[in-house]
Amino acid sequence: MKKGILKMKKCNLWVSLTVALLITFILPLTYAQETQSKNTGTQQVNSSSANQGNQANQGNQANQVQGSQGQGSQGQTNQASQAQGNQVNQVSQGQGNQANQMNQATPAIGSPAPQTPAEALQRLIDGNKRFVKDRTICPAPNALAGRREETIAKQRPFAVIVGCSDSRVPPELLFDQGLGDIFVVRIAGNVVGDLELSSVEYSVLVNFSQVVLVLGHQNCGAVEAVWNDNSNGIQPIAKLIEPALYNVNREKVSLKDAIIANVKNSVSAIKASGPISKLLKENKIKVVGAYYNFETGETEIVTEK
Ligand SMILES: [Zn+2]
Repeated sequence: MKKGILKMKKCNLWVSLTVALLITFILPLTYAQETQSKNTGTQQVNSSSANQGNQANQGNQANQVQGSQGQGSQGQTNQASQAQGNQVNQVSQGQGNQANQMNQATPAIGSPAPQTPAEALQRLIDGNKRFVKDRTICPAPNALAGRREETIAKQRPFAVIVGCSDSRVPPELLFDQGLGDIFVVRIAGNVVGDLELSSVEYSVLVNFSQVVLVLGHQNCGAVEAVWNDNSNGIQPIAKLIEPALYNVNREKVSLKDAIIANVKNSVSAIKASGPISKLLKENKIKVVGAYYNFETGETEIVTEK
């Protein structure tokens, strides 16, 4: 009997040791693997955004996804760690750090506006670089609805884009920006008349946009029509393009030069606005012109930055 009891005690001891080993080492590793695999996708998005300058608001969307998933998995791991010991806590802390690094890499959703007009312009330039490399981060996976909800009550677009209606130049795509990031005025030939100017002023004065970018583009049909004296059907727009071409020698310059001259004409019209010229003097805003190249996807600043 005593031997039997001893055997049972030994047996219980082995069972206890096995259970303890299982709880201490194997289960935590399983949880760690699970959470790691859940984070893999978002880490990829994050690392690409981190490499790309981390300045776009859309990075924020990516970040929110990353942050929330990271937190979710961290919470899950912490639950496991409470039951199972310190080892998992170490794993979960590591993952928590990873999530924090992601947050540092890209500003959180609803992050403050750029600190300076130069920073606002840089966000656009960085976004275009991502577009050129086909490494866009907008809209971030599963973050569109969150961004939409966040901007229900108000908008704070950091930039105004005055672009052509041409189907090949959608500003949000070219600059890799998302919902609520840029205020867009689109009209054939990216001209600036009274209506366009008041739209620009609205976003600068009410939304506190810090940079206005006039975007011309390769093979712009509206400018080309005026260039070729064939502007039938677009006369109101042609009237706004013509002054830009007065001083352009058509014998000597290319259509690209004419398009850039038209961009500069629109920039001048915006800079001449009373409220905008005041902000320019105070260095609270930038107004620049750019030319978009279809072949490269690159947007080149063609005025003073
Ligand atoms: Zn055009």
